[in-house]
Amino acid sequence: MKAVLVLFEEHGLHRKAPSCYRVVKELQDAGFSCDLWIFCRGNTLPPDIALFEAERVVCLQGMAQAINGHRQALAMLEVLCEEYKPEILLFAEDYTGTELSPCLAYRIGGECLVACTGMRWDSSEQILYVEKAVYGGNVFAEFAVREFPFAATLKTGEGIPYHPESAFDGEMVEHRLPLAAPLPDLEVLGSTPAPADGLEEARVVFAAGRGFGGRGELQRLHQMLAKLGVQAAATRPLIQSGMMPMDSLVGITGKSVFPDLLITAGISGSAPFMSGARYAKKIIAVNNDPDALIFTQADVGVLADCKDVLRELELLLKLREL
Ligand SMILES: Cc1cc2nc3c(=O)[nH]c(=O)nc-3n(C[C@H](O)[C@H](O)[C@H](O)COP(=O)(O)OP(=O)(O)OC[C@H]3O[C@@H](n4cnc5c(N)ncnc54)[C@H](O)[C@@H]3O)c2cc1C
Repeated sequence: MKAVLVLFEEHGLHRKAPSCYRVVKELQDAGFSCDLWIFCRGNTLPPDIALFEAERVVCLQGMAQAINGHRQALAMLEVLCEEYKPEILLFAEDYTGTELSPCLAYRIGGECLVACTGMRWDSSEQILYVEKAVYGGNVFAEFAVREFPFAATLKTGEGIPYHPESAFDGEMVEHRLPLAAPLPDLEVLGSTPAPADGLEEARVVFAAGRGFGGRGELQRLHQMLAKLGVQAAATRPLIQSGMMPMDSLVGITGKSVFPDLLITAGISGSAPFMSGARYAKKIIAVNNDPDALIFTQADVGVLADCKDVLRELELLLKLREL
């Protein structure tokens, strides 16, 4: 089995410890071969790579000059996954890792968990047990991962002592990030300005789900919410398809929200989503299925097609602007 730790040099590798360091060690001890894929700014490797005792380091150069950095990084990671076929992909829990890991997992047909704090491999059962905080950080849960590839972000910590005298003596492979890398089928639909305090503090949240519509509808939604100053959120299918950013995910693997009003549209009301949505004071749910679970949890249920609701809301907004 192969695991890979994907890091971005600019963040300082040893600062990603202790979780990354501990998990890599744990997997190495369980017999995994562990490689490092590093997005480097220049042509030289950061000196602290020796810390991870990787068997192979793949140095991805040219990141600093790349336009659309994340999209190109994603395209590059897909190519590397095809070449090296790792079962486990580890990212540090930072903005880049949190953006890339679910998108990459989706593209390579895998699963993803974010903000993990530990992992252990059970070789007799061939199960990866992944630890992460749930329910607003009050409980630690262990998830059993049986299918691979699997991507995860690991919470960072205080760092561990770094000894500059240790040297990396494994295999070194260099890849240059092509500036004109073919871009994946990912389109940025726009974004709603986040209130200074963030999604957790927003008073009104509009959460879109799989049934909300396609790219066109989401783009229109973003434009409308930006005018209203309402915070956008999403369920996991929209995050995994790359249509909404990771930091808008509500639920057990995302954020808990505490608004006065939460509007859900095209959302079934699954338990993982509701665990982050249930603190809302009032929930208005739009769904075209009268038996949708969300209707049992909402204060107001709107049995309608999201497309009609979106059209009506746009019309109301236009009238208000006249
Ligand atoms: C370990 C684990 C962790 C997870 N963590 C999370 C998490 O943190 N957050 C999260 O969201 N999910 C999470 N999930 C996924 C979760 O189980 C559900 O799959 C997901 O929440 C479903 O999203 P959804 O409601 O958008 O899609 P669906 O369940 O597919 O529901 C779509 C809904 O839209 C309705 N609909 C369809 N078309 C229309 C229309 N035109 N108009 C109106 N309604 C329409 C349908 O009736 C349906 O009810 C997790 C899963 C696992 C296994």
